[in-house]
Amino acid sequence: VSDLSTMMDVPVNQVIGACMSLGMMVTMNQRLDAETMTIVAEEFGFEMDFVNADIEESIAEVEDTEEQLVTRAPIVTVMGHVDHGKTSLLDYIREENVIAGESGGITQHIGAYGVELKGGQKIAFLDTPGHEAFTAMRARGAQVTDLAIIVIAADDDVMPQTKEAISHAQAAGVPIVFAINKVDRDAANPEKIKESLANMNLLVEDWGGKIQSHDISAKTGLGVAELLEKVLLEAELLDLKANPDKQATGTVVEAFLDKGRGYVSTILVQAGTLKVGDYVLAGRTHGKVKAMQDERGHDVQAAGPSTPVSILGLDGAPQAGDKFHVFEDEREAKSIASRRTQLQREQSVRTQKTLSLDEIGRRIALGDFKELNLILKGDVDGSVEALTDSFQKLSTEEIQVNIIHKAVGAITESDVLLASASDAIIIGFNVRPQGNARSVAEQEEVDIRMYSIIYDAINDLKDAMEGMLSPEL
Ligand code: GDP
Repeated sequence: VSDLSTMMDVPVNQVIGACMSLGMMVTMNQRLDAETMTIVAEEFGFEMDFVNADIEESIAEVEDTEEQLVTRAPIVTVMGHVDHGKTSLLDYIREENVIAGESGGITQHIGAYGVELKGGQKIAFLDTPGHEAFTAMRARGAQVTDLAIIVIAADDDVMPQTKEAISHAQAAGVPIVFAINKVDRDAANPEKIKESLANMNLLVEDWGGKIQSHDISAKTGLGVAELLEKVLLEAELLDLKANPDKQATGTVVEAFLDKGRGYVSTILVQAGTLKVGDYVLAGRTHGKVKAMQDERGHDVQAAGPSTPVSILGLDGAPQAGDKFHVFEDEREAKSIASRRTQLQREQSVRTQKTLSLDEIGRRIALGDFKELNLILKGDVDGSVEALTDSFQKLSTEEIQVNIIHKAVGAITESDVLLASASDAIIIGFNVRPQGNARSVAEQEEVDIRMYSIIYDAINDLKDAMEGMLSPEL
């Protein structure tokens, strides 16, 4: 309903009214069937043309039955503050946990790799440390990570990026395992880190809480095996399953053009099994899989769930976060890829993807809004805390105000991506967007509101929540 209203530039309550006159009570988030849309559009003098209906239809996934599902390996992302040891940990795991009987570690950086532990269990790691990649994928609608390891240096403290990583994992609903790193150093004080976490309401197991944590040294390898055991334990609770006996689907991790071999794309198979010779559609690219390699540079013929492989054969470089699907015949994959390309070119009328404060006001007025997600950035801790308190007090029985991330500092690209992935509004207090943040916000249609008077910020939010915010000029 709301997309239709945006596309026709007709107020949403008029669209709702038109539906009502057809005998349908709808809310603005409701999906309409093709026939209703056609009739409603006609009312306002528009003609409906369904350009990609068949695309969605032809790639609709079939539900698996319980018997078809088998346990799959967890897919893990490593996040944390700069210099706390993310890369060192990923490197250590890559080099130490080679597949049983195989000499030599992983030689290639393909963006993801799988390891097999002594007990035979497997874990797939996304090899791009940091939450930027994680959240950029989520902003494109790809939820790949099952679990996050958050690295904190024991000779340092819980730092701004640590908090950011925690917020990003929590916003994605991904369980966290803490790796308290650098315990080989004299200055290391793991207890201090756990205390800081406890002060943030994050109680680790030693402190009587539920969150897994392990003291490690990514340099000497101390505790890393035990950390991975805890990751597997946590994964077990998630009961991760996939059907390996069907055509593969999954997500693109990275892609580049190799002068000699053409486009090389690393993909993570999430369900089904990908085979050499399959016709693949990935975002706006397509092609027949000519060859597949694992992270050791070995040719493989098939890749099942939770397996990362780099593939050759696509006619372009898909974007990280693009979904891929396998098709029976190449023509279909090709035609969808070219229609997607065409659609993207033609789509001058963009429907609103994320929420603006005005839009929230409108939805609340319609009684159709339950949660307001906010990201708060401020110049000093005092103002951030004051705003947090005031905003949280605005929560009512109908509308819950969630502060999904707050920190001192400028508004960064990573804040914008988090907002885009979580449908949040960014509130800046005496701070401005930095670097690419503004252009990314425009692209992702994220609403950034900047204030220098606390009272104004609170009033705007209150007005929006009462459904009467006047549109921003
Ligand atoms: P990243 O920015 O989080 O990826 O951090 P790096 O992995 O690049 O590590 C930053 C620095 O800390 C490097 O100089 C590492 O050698 C060092 N480092 C990482 N882990 C450990 C550790 O467990 N012990 C010690 N002593 N140094 C470490």
